[in-house]
Amino acid sequence: MTPIADKLGAAVDEWVAGHHADLVSIRRHLHAHPELAFAEFETTSFIEQRLRAAGLEPRRLPTGTGLVCEVGSGDGGAGGGPVVVLRADIDALPLADLKDVPYASTREGLCHACGHDVHTTVILGVALALAELDGMPGRVRCVFQPAEETVPGGATEVVASGVLDGASRAFALHCDPAVPAGKVGLRTGAITAACDRMDVTLTGPGGHTARPQLTVDLVDALGRLITDLPSLLSRQVDPRAGMSLVWGAVNAGVAANAIPQRGTLRGTVRVLDREAWKGAEDLLRSLVERVAATTGAEVGVDYIRGVPPVVNDPRAVALLRSAAIGTVGGENVVLSAQSMGGEDFGWFADVMPIALARLGTHGGGAPLDLHRGTFDVDERAIGVGVRLLARTALLALEADAEPSPGSSGAPPRTRRPAPGDTSARRAVDERRESQDEHDRRDDRPGAGGG
Ligand SMILES: [Zn+2]
Ligand SMILES: [Zn+2]
Repeated sequence: MTPIADKLGAAVDEWVAGHHADLVSIRRHLHAHPELAFAEFETTSFIEQRLRAAGLEPRRLPTGTGLVCEVGSGDGGAGGGPVVVLRADIDALPLADLKDVPYASTREGLCHACGHDVHTTVILGVALALAELDGMPGRVRCVFQPAEETVPGGATEVVASGVLDGASRAFALHCDPAVPAGKVGLRTGAITAACDRMDVTLTGPGGHTARPQLTVDLVDALGRLITDLPSLLSRQVDPRAGMSLVWGAVNAGVAANAIPQRGTLRGTVRVLDREAWKGAEDLLRSLVERVAATTGAEVGVDYIRGVPPVVNDPRAVALLRSAAIGTVGGENVVLSAQSMGGEDFGWFADVMPIALARLGTHGGGAPLDLHRGTFDVDERAIGVGVRLLARTALLALEADAEPSPGSSGAPPRTRRPAPGDTSARRAVDERRESQDEHDRRDDRPGAGGG
């Protein structure tokens, strides 16, 4: 821990100790008023008011919801002072809140079941705490990103809009119900998976099951795709890339003695390696064509690119680790499991090094999993999150302000990606074409994916 980060970090600790009740009430307000992706209007106004009351000047994102707000000193990265990004996601899920608590959702069918209310409270808390400090070694840019839960989501808009310009690194955290509150999970490299969705439609003439030789046996063809594709895939991709295809839905036929004319398969493709992800669509399309060709069925593939993996930068993780040790002590910093869940923070890596930490939220008893109406957190985790990310930002600003010769100084500042030449840009375009949402989520306890 460096002297400035040490001193200011201690001031943040003190601020958190004095504002625990306020942080909890912010979180409970957000939890009781969930809003869906790109419709987080009240959430945005609420955050905006709190920031303005602290003398800060938040700006709305071009998406209409979400905010960006800088805290600290320096010129905002245009010509000098370092800028570090902290990112929260602010949207909720279309799930019923099943909890019997005073702060349960007041909106039918909507729930903060992924902990984004906690993430938002943490980044808001960091902004409010840092706003009271003098002597910051640069500026912290807090990004309250909309629409993490949709594909393509808010992160692609944030990256393409230039909101990240001039910053050197970005950090975020995600609740992890498998890790006890008071602990922090870290991992270098891929911490979440890329996740795409593939829909396959087979068509044929149909016919009587007594005479399959006169038609295309569509159900048999579907069966071949179901089993052959995953096994072919496993021989076409480096096993270390961690690519998997798992079907979630299969539909065809009605009668026991009639071969149907149409059948569909829907599944997700997950992969931990970003390079392998780039080639996943072409590879899957060609494998589907190959297998379908042996059956005689006509085939159509709808492949929807989801999110890239979140690949944690080693230097950014080292900064998180120093901050975590200063916040919870080395004994409470654990190795985070790799998740096959998706998280759109991975898009930020298009323009700068990133790292996502896991915030332990388990308060005892059976873990309350993400994406369920019963999900809740031990609220002591909120203060840990504020202290962790405030310290991380301070350490990163110091590191980026004074690059030591030939070592781990500031990475090049970000530049807005040129139109049309990034995957993030492509994803934005795809979102404009289709608002299709899908199920890239992982429902295992501790999967931690967004
Ligand atoms: Zn989620
Ligand atoms: Zn999430």
